[in-house]
Amino acid sequence: MKISIFDPNPNNNYQIVEAIKEEAFKRDFDFDDENPDIIIHIGGDGTFLKAIQNNIDRLDDVIFLGVKNNDSSLGFFYDFGFEDIEDMFDLLDSGLLKINRINLMKCIAESENKTFEFYSFNEIRLSNMETTLKCDIYVNDVLFESYAGDELIISSTSGSTGLNKSAGGAIISSDIDCFQITPLANINSKIFKTINNPLIVNYNSIIKCQNINKNSLISFDYVTLDDCVNNVEISRSNLYVSYLSKSDISFIKKIKDKFDV
Ligand code: NAP
Ligand code: MN
Repeated sequence: MKISIFDPNPNNNYQIVEAIKEEAFKRDFDFDDENPDIIIHIGGDGTFLKAIQNNIDRLDDVIFLGVKNNDSSLGFFYDFGFEDIEDMFDLLDSGLLKINRINLMKCIAESENKTFEFYSFNEIRLSNMETTLKCDIYVNDVLFESYAGDELIISSTSGSTGLNKSAGGAIISSDIDCFQITPLANINSKIFKTINNPLIVNYNSIIKCQNINKNSLISFDYVTLDDCVNNVEISRSNLYVSYLSKSDISFIKKIKDKFDV
C-alpha cells in the first residue's frame, strides 16, 4: 500500500511524521505522493477539509486517515494521535479499520458573468460584505422563506458539528443523510418575517437561494469566493470521501468526547 502524508504544519508535526515513517517502513508500506492509496493527514478537522479539497480530483482512488496533532481542539474525524501510531498501523495492516463513505454537497453559484461549481464537506454559507444578507430560499422549487439576516448556513450531516452547531443548528447523527438550513442572526420585525429555527430536509432535496442581494459572498468549508453571487443551487453530488476510523466508537460517545460533555 502506498501512503502520502498531508501535513500543512510541518514545523509543528515533525515528531508525528517521523513516527509515521518509522512504522510504515517497518511494515513495507511505500510512500508515493503521485498515486497514493492512503492519505494520512495530520491536524484537526480543519486539516481534513483542506486534504479533501486538495485531492478533489482523485477522491475515488484514495482513503483518508487522520492523525490528530496537539493544535486540534476537536478532531471529529480523527481516532488516533501521536501515542497511537503503532496501534493505528497494526489495525491498518490487519484490515481492522472501518471504511466510512461521506457524500459531498454540490454547489452551483452564479455571479454576474460567471458560473462556479464546487464541492463541500461541511457547509455552504452566504454572507454579505456591506449590509443584511437577503435572499429567497426555495426547497424543491417551493418558496420556503425570504431570508434577511447575517448569514445563511446550509450544512451536511458531517458539517452539523461545525459552524452549524455554533449557530444553534442540530447535531445530526452520522447515519442520517440530510441538509440543514440554519439562519445566523436573522431579523424578525414588522418588515422581515423569517422562521427562526433550522430546517432539516431530505438529502435528495434541491435548495436554491435566489434574488440574493448585491455584495453577497459565498463560502464553502474554509474557502470564500472572490466574486459576489446572485443565485445558488445546492444538491447532493456524486463525489464521496472515504476515510478510515476505529470500528467500535459510537457516534454519541464521539460527541460526548469531542465536546467534553
Ligand atoms: P478552523 O479554525 O480550522 O475551524 C474552526 C473550528 O471548527 C475548529 O475547532 C475545527 O476543528 C472545527 N470543525 C471544522 N469542521 C468540523 C466538523 N465537521 N465537526 C466538528 N468540528 C469541526 O477553520 P477553517 O480552517 O476555516 O475550517 C472551516 C470550518 O470550520 C468550517 O467548515 C466551519 O464548519 C468551521 N467553523 C466553525 C466556526 C464556529 O464554530 N463558530 C467558525 C468558523 C468555521 P479543529 O480544531 O479540529 O480543526
Ligand atoms: Mn483547524
